[in-house]
Amino acid sequence: MIEPNEALDIIMENVGEVDCERVYFTQSKGRVLAEDIKSNMNLPPFDNSAMDGYAFHFDDLKRYNRLSVKGVIGAGSSDALHVEEGECARIMTGAPMPKGADTVVEFEKVNLIDNNTIEIIGDLHKGRNVRKTGEDIKKGESLHYLKGEFITPAIIARLVSCGVYNYKVYRRPKVAIISTGSELIYPGSLIEDNKIVESNGEYITLTLQDVGVEVLYKGIIEDSFEALKSIIEGLQLYDSIITIGGISKGDYDIVRLYGKQLGIKWFFNEVFQKPGKPFSFGLIGDKPVFSFPGNPLSSAFCQFFYFLPAIKKMMGVKRPYNNKFKAYLEKDIYKKSKRNMFLNANIYMGDNGIKVIAAERENSNLISQLLFSNGYIYMSSKVMGSIGKGTLVDVYSKYINYL
Ligand code: AMP
Ligand code: MG
Repeated sequence: MIEPNEALDIIMENVGEVDCERVYFTQSKGRVLAEDIKSNMNLPPFDNSAMDGYAFHFDDLKRYNRLSVKGVIGAGSSDALHVEEGECARIMTGAPMPKGADTVVEFEKVNLIDNNTIEIIGDLHKGRNVRKTGEDIKKGESLHYLKGEFITPAIIARLVSCGVYNYKVYRRPKVAIISTGSELIYPGSLIEDNKIVESNGEYITLTLQDVGVEVLYKGIIEDSFEALKSIIEGLQLYDSIITIGGISKGDYDIVRLYGKQLGIKWFFNEVFQKPGKPFSFGLIGDKPVFSFPGNPLSSAFCQFFYFLPAIKKMMGVKRPYNNKFKAYLEKDIYKKSKRNMFLNANIYMGDNGIKVIAAERENSNLISQLLFSNGYIYMSSKVMGSIGKGTLVDVYSKYINYL
């Protein structure tokens, strides 16, 4: 049986990027930038004042105790004011620096002698309070480091400030989700004996929508060869396929029993892990198929640990892997299974660093475990028995990392 990281490597080798499209900036939040962009302009576009104050030529202070005020410049002003020796201009934040001036003294450091004369008090240096042309970004400067990032409000602000209003992003990948199980009923339908409400589909759909995936929920199919066959035949339209349930070794585990016959080329059918041991990955044609076990904790884990990095790679994300870091255990845990364990857990900021506390009971059928869990504790197959409070352990955050 393969290790989780080997399984992840196989998956990452077998998924490729989707194609791109061009969008206007208003439509781009949450998409992934697909091109190297250069700034169309200098920012600031002109030298301007960082404060409300007086603009003057610094070296004049050697010769003059007082400066005469020549006029006022407001932000957006197009007056070409020129200050001569011994002169200054009253200037507002963001207003263009007048010709002949290189320094701005803020109001707080000025004594008004009369309406037209000021005296400067306190220390200054040349260039104070002046924002230089291009000091934020220069025309033609590369923004290549933004390629492959999820587009955040900050990135949009950066791009529009540079005069870049539309750009290439990766297309939203289309993912089909199929739930299998003759015991499943749709949320909202009549509750019948021995049936359970399908909840994984909703969990996975919503989580993937948050990443920007276009999810097509294909619904529930019963545990029969015919049902699987008819649904699998229409799947070439999608960039990837997720099946939920029916991948263990039971008599009705249809994905495991018939997947190969229906065209899925499996790479592996089990991973040495808990939860989600029967997790399987394959290709149908060139489309990756992820088959999650149906237990809610198992399918939630498999979608986090395997599907999320894979779909991020498909979406062109530069750093598709989940965030792994260290945290101090806040409460002892006991590891019974030899498998690699991923415990639902709550990670939080303690007084002396990051702490983590495992969910109370860890059974893969307990949706309640998901509720107060924002991450996983990872314990490798080499670790067994009790792990004490205060131990530094590996954790994964379930949250997607943005720039
Ligand atoms: P399976 O992987 O098909 O053997 O299912 C394992 C367990 O998870 C069974 O108890 C199923 O009833 C339950 N289960 C399977 N699919 C879902 C689903 N979509 N939503 C909620 N529970 C499910
Ligand atoms: Mg089943």
